[in-house]
Amino acid sequence: MIPDQTNSEPRMNICDHAVVAMHYTLKNVEGAVLDSSEGQDPLTYLHGTGGIITGLEAALLDKVAGDQLTAVIEPKDGYGAIDPSLVQVVPRSAFAGVESIEAGMRFTASDEQGQQQSVAIAAVNGDEITVDGNHPLAGETLHFEVEVVSVRAATEEEISHGHVHS
Ligand code: ZN
Repeated sequence: MIPDQTNSEPRMNICDHAVVAMHYTLKNVEGAVLDSSEGQDPLTYLHGTGGIITGLEAALLDKVAGDQLTAVIEPKDGYGAIDPSLVQVVPRSAFAGVESIEAGMRFTASDEQGQQQSVAIAAVNGDEITVDGNHPLAGETLHFEVEVVSVRAATEEEISHGHVHS
């Protein structure tokens, strides 16, 4: 006889300081898959620390291992609206040492405060390069299909660090 673990231990509900492992598929409104954990290890995060977008965290609250859910998340609870002020035209000379610049390439830029920011090349027009600092998923309504794989309490060390230790 093999003891039935699932009956002997109460299943933990997702709450602050829960370590959650989940499989997910993210689609846009047209149904195109933008991201998925399929074929990879589940995504693991520490609930209540801003490790994942707020809309998904809210949808996962109180769920238990084995639960499946779908969540439709508006940009304000996801990666935000598109901010037009983050789209700027800069001279090609700003890309010293880069031989060819094409739309779709991504670069890491530093602002005056030394903060690093990822920007995408939106357009190339001669010496005028249009860069876009918006998150690639800004403005998207996100459709998540999620399966909760496991839920456990975080250790004191994980809570003090604000992230999961494997
Ligand atoms: Zn740590």
